[in-house]
Amino acid sequence: MKKTVTLTLAALVCSIAANAQDAKKYPDPEPMRPAMSEYWTPQPKVVTPGKYSPTEVPSDAIVLFNGKDLSAWRHDNGQDAQWTVKDGVMTVDKSKGDIVTKQPFGSFQLHLEWRVPEGIEGTSQARGNSGVFLQDKYEVQILDCYNNETYVNGMTGSLYKQTPPLVNAMRKPGEWNVYDIIYTAPVFKEDGTYLYRPYVTVIQNGVLLQNHTEILGTTEFIGFPRTVVHGDGPIRLQSHGDPSAPISFRNIWIRPL
Ligand code: MG
Repeated sequence: MKKTVTLTLAALVCSIAANAQDAKKYPDPEPMRPAMSEYWTPQPKVVTPGKYSPTEVPSDAIVLFNGKDLSAWRHDNGQDAQWTVKDGVMTVDKSKGDIVTKQPFGSFQLHLEWRVPEGIEGTSQARGNSGVFLQDKYEVQILDCYNNETYVNGMTGSLYKQTPPLVNAMRKPGEWNVYDIIYTAPVFKEDGTYLYRPYVTVIQNGVLLQNHTEILGTTEFIGFPRTVVHGDGPIRLQSHGDPSAPISFRNIWIRPL
């Protein structure tokens, strides 16, 4: 009987101690602001790309935009994509929002061409902002970085808010830029952490911007990358809310790997 009472008392003391620890107050973390994950130096050097030769579509590629229609795309709400198609080019309609491919993809090689309109105005992120999201999670930035500085991990060809591009290989507004993106999809453990993180290589106008870069997690405007378990996902093209004139795309194809 005495032993039982002693054990009960010991359990009570432990419980009180644990509750006291639970009740201990620690400082709240400071709320994250967007600028906390942006940095401006060193600015990558400017490289003038060589002449561009239009790339013909490889025989095994899936064509995502052939200049005629947006049949491979839709909006988030399931509606048909409503960006403007004219003269073989599609142009962002900022009133309609992002578009995503109807087909989801795993690892792939993606080719797309994009053009900032001549005479575009604005500074930093508010000039020709768009982006291509890999598996709908990880953004490779599209922006007019021709004579337009911004935080380096938000430049053209950055893995947005993560890794700056190796160099700045922009063409002038009015000229076509070419992205070739090689992406390796992640593999997850059963506990929801990465077994293998995703990787990306980005080439702009024949110049290497990302060299098999490890992707740390999802693209977040505020805060740190997160680990989110996912399978195959669509390619997303961003309709950014900045007030500058909208950019255009053409010749988009993908080769699943
Ligand atoms: Mg963007």
